[in-house]
Amino acid sequence: TEKDTSKDKDKPNVSFKDVAGLEEIKEELQETIDFINNSQKYKKMGAKIPKGILFFGPPGTGKTLLAKAVAGETNSTFLYASGSEFVEKYVGVGAKRVRTLFERAKKEAPSIVFIDEIDAIGTKRNMESNNEKDQTLNQLLIELDGFNNNETVIVIGATNRIDLLDEALLRPGRFDRHIYVGNPNIKAREKILEVHTSNKPLDKTISIKDLAKKTTGLSGAQLANIANEAAIIAVRKNKTIISSFEFDAAIERVLAGLELKNPSVL
Ligand code: ATP
Repeated sequence: TEKDTSKDKDKPNVSFKDVAGLEEIKEELQETIDFINNSQKYKKMGAKIPKGILFFGPPGTGKTLLAKAVAGETNSTFLYASGSEFVEKYVGVGAKRVRTLFERAKKEAPSIVFIDEIDAIGTKRNMESNNEKDQTLNQLLIELDGFNNNETVIVIGATNRIDLLDEALLRPGRFDRHIYVGNPNIKAREKILEVHTSNKPLDKTISIKDLAKKTTGLSGAQLANIANEAAIIAVRKNKTIISSFEFDAAIERVLAGLELKNPSVL
């Protein structure tokens, strides 16, 4: 559930409790949260705070959600960008967008800049140069290197294809923390389903444990989708409560949708 009801749209009202089943990752991110919340202490000690984190792994596993939650936990400004927004025909346009994004991040610091699909701008530069793409990537590298110690700006990149990224991006001082966000195991699926059914009237006979068992291989996004579909099916049937019947229908619907798109996933 997107609980983004805060008045200021750029200050997400999402916290770690909205992110289910990624306990180790949340623990790892506590350090970053401490850097942001106590940045003065680190500055006084002359420590530069690590500012680039890369989330990698399959789609729909909560990468965006985690980044938003880091902003929510630290009351930081959340700036979302997708790598594809920077891909332009005319030389210099993408680079300028990168510059503008970081100017804003510094102005509204502390901030989290989240760049989804960072591979769209960050793939390996090759011999036959693509001027526009290279300039955009170079500008991103400049921004990553250039933060002075006065503003707290953390950059979180996300990709499904870490193998395609230019090594320059992954170097110390840039995106030097790499965190794998994978599909949930049975326990995590149970927790995710709990989060996404907590606001829904469920029949007592529903076993979240059983639902977790039936949904092997699905992502958090797909589980959220199933919970929502079950609610929609219940409304259509004029029910006041969601039973396992609606859940089974919802699972079937989501799995069928997957099968159509990519028969090999099942
Ligand atoms: P993509 O790579 O496609 O951008 P992503 O990894 O960024 O995907 P999100 O956009 O964070 O995935 O997830 C989509 C939605 O799925 C979330 O807004 C949330 O509703 C749900 N979701 C995914 N993972 C979790 C989780 N661990 N706990 C709770 N909800 C989750």
